[in-house]
Amino acid sequence: MTHLASPAIVLRRRDYGDFDLILTVLTQEHGICSLIAKAAKKSTRRFPGILEPFATLHIVYRQSRGRGMQVLEEATLEAAFTHARADVLKMAYASYWCELVVLWLEEGLARPDVYELLAYALNALNRDLASGKLLSLLFQMRFVGQEGLRPVLERCSCCQIEIEKLAQHQFCIDLRQGGIVCHQCPAPGAGQLRLSKGTVKQLLWMAQGDLAMAQRVRFSPSALAEATQFLEAFVPYHIGRAPKSLVFLHQIRGQTEQ
Ligand SMILES: [Zn+2]
Repeated sequence: MTHLASPAIVLRRRDYGDFDLILTVLTQEHGICSLIAKAAKKSTRRFPGILEPFATLHIVYRQSRGRGMQVLEEATLEAAFTHARADVLKMAYASYWCELVVLWLEEGLARPDVYELLAYALNALNRDLASGKLLSLLFQMRFVGQEGLRPVLERCSCCQIEIEKLAQHQFCIDLRQGGIVCHQCPAPGAGQLRLSKGTVKQLLWMAQGDLAMAQRVRFSPSALAEATQFLEAFVPYHIGRAPKSLVFLHQIRGQTEQ
């Protein structure tokens, strides 16, 4: 019987029968895994209140015999996400990021880059290093970049002319083309998204280099709003799924921003 050990972030948990929990975790070493935590609901002795969403743990688990689910054997807490847990908007952002990871990543495939990004974003959110909205821009830009889905922002996604050579200051977005379009190219339908040139440059800056530096990009309220609207349309479109947690995030943000 093979035992595996790894740092892991709890992406979600659900009840399984009267006694057990099923956890979906992102491990640093082996990617996404589904694990059963036997008797975790009945007894808190083995896992004393630590198997919570967005917590970072160090886990030991094993393959069960046959093709059954992997079994969680031990877990120790590394980061609890306690501060952010009391804030429903922070929980909504964390849920959205974790759902993107669950929807897109293939189970069992090692992705230390995604692990590092998610751990960074959750820690920064928990420690109030930046607003949830800003961290969400950072997370989404880096995530789609890592997955080869980065938006085309350096040039018109239609005619390929670089934005530096274009006199205009605002761009339409064509989700199907995967980025901005210039005024000379056919515009997408009505009600479309727009980005100003300044916001485009800030998003590009955010997409590369050191995470802690990128997190310090200053957005005006209007730039933050248009960048948020853009990425929360672009990312679900290109991963081909509609995250349920994004609906929740929109509701909560709508209430808190009123
Ligand atoms: Zn063009």
